[in-house]
Amino acid sequence: MASDIQHIVVIGGGQAGGYACKALRGEGFEGRLTVVADEPHDFYERPPLSKGVVTESEPLPRLFPKESLAALDIDWRRPRRAVEIDRAAGEVVLDDGERLPYDRLLIATGSRPRLPVAEWASLANVMTLRTWDDATRLKAKLEGSRRIGIIGGGWIGLEVASSARKLGVEVDVFERAPALCGRSVGPEVAEAIRELHERHGVGLELARQDIALGEEGDGRVNVVADGEAREPYDLVVVGTGVEINLELAREAGLVTEQGIVIDAAGHTSDPRIFAAGDVAQHPHLGLCLQSWAYAQNQARVVADAMLGKDAHYDEPAWLWSDQHGVNIQILGVPSGELHCVVRRDPQGPVFFYLDDENRLVQMVAFDQPRAIKLGKRWLAAERVLDPEALGDPDYNLMQLR
Ligand SMILES: Cc1cc2nc3c(=O)[nH]c(=O)nc-3n(C[C@H](O)[C@H](O)[C@H](O)COP(=O)(O)OP(=O)(O)OC[C@H]3O[C@@H](n4cnc5c(N)ncnc54)[C@H](O)[C@@H]3O)c2cc1C
Repeated sequence: MASDIQHIVVIGGGQAGGYACKALRGEGFEGRLTVVADEPHDFYERPPLSKGVVTESEPLPRLFPKESLAALDIDWRRPRRAVEIDRAAGEVVLDDGERLPYDRLLIATGSRPRLPVAEWASLANVMTLRTWDDATRLKAKLEGSRRIGIIGGGWIGLEVASSARKLGVEVDVFERAPALCGRSVGPEVAEAIRELHERHGVGLELARQDIALGEEGDGRVNVVADGEAREPYDLVVVGTGVEINLELAREAGLVTEQGIVIDAAGHTSDPRIFAAGDVAQHPHLGLCLQSWAYAQNQARVVADAMLGKDAHYDEPAWLWSDQHGVNIQILGVPSGELHCVVRRDPQGPVFFYLDDENRLVQMVAFDQPRAIKLGKRWLAAERVLDPEALGDPDYNLMQLR
């Protein structure tokens, strides 16, 4: 380990920040490890916030049990915000004026929900979902709701729709595009997701270009979609994508695009500063993945690099979503001209998106985690596949191992 590293500062106490700290200690870093976190809670993960926290009252989904967390010996600054990175001085400035010197700095500031109309933030029964505090508020509000509206037919909006249906609440989803989750999956998958939601009684309003929200005297929310008013909703949840928390990096003069530009080891354009998680643009894909697995595994790699070890992140993009009891896993990111092969297994469909040489580019599987495991190998090996075999439910995919 490089001997000049006495003090590491991590900005952001989320998934990436937490796993980086664990890996730093695991790799033998014994110096001072400071975490600046604007949330008051111990490290926790977000996927349960739209799922079991709302439907089953699951507790704070801690990343580590309390004893393991204590063993990391973290010098917390929370709830505190980092407001500036002074690269010349090698210091992080906090909102209370404290200046924290660093030998290595990790930016793991994640992302925040984007509101398409700023004024929606002032409506009492309109909310977004990102934090534990949001999730506990959502749960309380759903308990008192008969019907809710959701703006945005992406992963978060659809998971909230599924959770609300599980609680017996009526749900309408308003989406601007003609398809659900259209930015991350192909039309065949979008159609299967639409069918799933319709089967579970979710009202879907696709291709609604213009949404206006207003407040009734009793606090309920008016939704006017393309000029047509709906019966007011008890609650409206907005899930229309995120803003990447890039400001600190940008103002410090680090190279940024969609996210902070990093190499496969997580180095930014400043050799003492690293980035991980949602805020760190994927080193090969050139986009911010917003995935639990990336936040965790890329952060672990970055921790090694921060200690001067050889480190290289090369996992394929992978994320999952749980909706109406179905586990949907997405492997890979669509790019270029692809053709789709659908395999209709009794336990759920699998969608293979292949390039013109029949190599896998993206795969989406409903309730078929084993198929995804195989897909990870095919992706890594750039294997040429036989579309006919893939689409035949009587053909055992394990033969293609
Ligand atoms: C409701 C929900 C459900 C999800 N479900 C899934 C799923 O099923 N599958 C999946 O793969 N992914 C899912 N995700 C995405 C996944 O949780 C994120 O990709 C992951 O949390 C990113 O981790 P991160 O550490 O980069 O960011 P975060 O977890 O957002 O952590 C960043 C932290 O930094 C803090 N921060 C920001 N700026 C500052 C500052 N200046 N000073 C101090 N602190 C700061 C933030 O408040 C936050 O606490 C879900 C996300 C949400 C919100």
